[in-house]
Amino acid sequence: MTSVRDESPWMTDETRMFRRTVRQFIETELAPHHAHWEQQGYPDSEAWLKAGKIGLLLSDVPEEYAGGGGTFAHEAVVIEELARSGVHFGFNIQSIVAHYILAYGNEEQRKRWLPALAAGELVGAVGLTEPQSGSDLQGTRTTARRDGDHYVINGSKTFITNGWQAGLICLAVRTDPKAPGPRALSLIVIETKDLSGYRVGHPLHKIGRRAQDTCELFFDEMRVPAANLLGSSEGRGLLQMMDQFRYERLSIGLSAVAAAEHAIKITADYVKERKAFGKPLMDLQNTRFKLAECKTEAHIGRVFIDNCIEQFIAGQLDSLTAAMAKYWLTDCQCRVIDECVQLHGGYGYMQETPIARMWADARVQRIYGGANEVLKEMVASSL
Ligand SMILES: Cc1cc2nc3c(=O)[nH]c(=O)nc-3n(C[C@H](O)[C@H](O)[C@H](O)COP(=O)(O)OP(=O)(O)OC[C@H]3O[C@@H](n4cnc5c(N)ncnc54)[C@H](O)[C@@H]3O)c2cc1C
Repeated sequence: MTSVRDESPWMTDETRMFRRTVRQFIETELAPHHAHWEQQGYPDSEAWLKAGKIGLLLSDVPEEYAGGGGTFAHEAVVIEELARSGVHFGFNIQSIVAHYILAYGNEEQRKRWLPALAAGELVGAVGLTEPQSGSDLQGTRTTARRDGDHYVINGSKTFITNGWQAGLICLAVRTDPKAPGPRALSLIVIETKDLSGYRVGHPLHKIGRRAQDTCELFFDEMRVPAANLLGSSEGRGLLQMMDQFRYERLSIGLSAVAAAEHAIKITADYVKERKAFGKPLMDLQNTRFKLAECKTEAHIGRVFIDNCIEQFIAGQLDSLTAAMAKYWLTDCQCRVIDECVQLHGGYGYMQETPIARMWADARVQRIYGGANEVLKEMVASSL
C-alpha cells in the first residue's frame, strides 16, 4: 500500500544525524526530569547548560556567534523531537530571542549575548504581553524614558515564558509616548542579573505545559544602558516584532503538526489494543474513519508546513503565509488531539495518560504567538 511520505523534503544526512543526537538527549537528559520540573514549575538550569553543550540551542545561528551554523531545518528537528516527546522546555523562545538579536543587534550586542544564549548560560525571554494588552501590542504601557546613557523602565509584563530563569529579555517598551502608534515602540534587551528595579513573580499555574515557567515581570525605575536598544534608532519595535513573528509562527505551526502526528500514532496503537464489544476498537468503522480523517488533516498540515519551511530557508516566507500556518495548524492540532482523546475513552481524561497531557498542552497554541482570530483578521485584510 502506498504510504504518505515518511520524511520531510528539507531533511538531509546531516539533520538526520542531528535528529538522533537530539532524540537521545531528550530521552536521557530532559524526559526523566520532566515530572520534577512540572512540580517546581520550571526546568533546572543544568538542563539549559547541557542543551547548550550538545548544540541543541541556537542551532540555526551562525558559528561566528557560537551557534550551530545550521538552517531552520536544524531548528525544525529540535521542535519536532520536543513536540513528540511531550517535554516542554522553552528552547524555542531562546531561539526567538537570538533571532531578534541577530536581525537587529549590532556586532557588539551579537558578540556579547549570542554565545551565552547558545551555551545555555543565559536563558532568554521575550516580553511583549502586558496585563492590559496582549493581542493589541500598540496598547503597550511599559515605558522607557531616556536619562543620559540609560533608559529608565517602568511597567510590567505577564505570561512570559522562561520568565523565572530569564537572564536576558527582549522587552517591548514605549519609548515615545507622543509618537503615532507604530512608531512609539522599541525593543530593549535587559540583562536581569543584579538589575535593580527588576522583579519576577512566581511561575503562574497553567493547565498544561507546567514544566515551562510562565511569569509576570515587574519594572520599577529599572535602569538599562541605552546601548541595549535593538536597532539603530527608537521607534522600530513594532516593525521588528512583525517581521520576527514569521519565525515564531512557523515554529508554532511545526510543533502543532508534529504533536498531531504523534497523537495519531499513540491513538492508533491504543485502539488496536483496547477491546469493546469483543473486538479491538480499531475494528469499529467510526474509529477507523475518525483516525483516517485525523491522518488526512495532519498530512495536509505536514505538506503545508514543509512548504513553509522550505520557503523560510530560501528567505521567502511571507508574514501572511506564516500567519495562515500558525492559525490553521494549531486549530488542526486541537481538532485532531480532541478526537484522539475521544477514542481513548475515560483513559483519555486521566492526567497520567499521554493523550490527556497533549490535549492540555495543545490548547494554548491557539492563543499565543498571535491569537488565531487576530491572524485570521490579518489574512482577511489581505483580500
Ligand atoms: C502559556 C503562555 C505563554 C506565553 N508566552 C509569552 C511570552 O513568552 N511572551 C509574551 O510576550 N507573551 C506570552 N504569552 C502571551 C500571549 O501571547 C497572549 O496571551 C496572547 O497574545 C493573547 O493576548 P491576551 O491574553 O491579552 O488576550 P486578549 O488580547 O485579551 O484577547 C483575548 C481573545 O480575544 C480575541 N481577540 C483579540 N483580539 C482580536 C481581534 N483583533 N479580532 C478577533 N478576536 C480578537 C482572541 O480570541 C483572543 O484570544 C503567553 C501566553 C501563555 C498563555
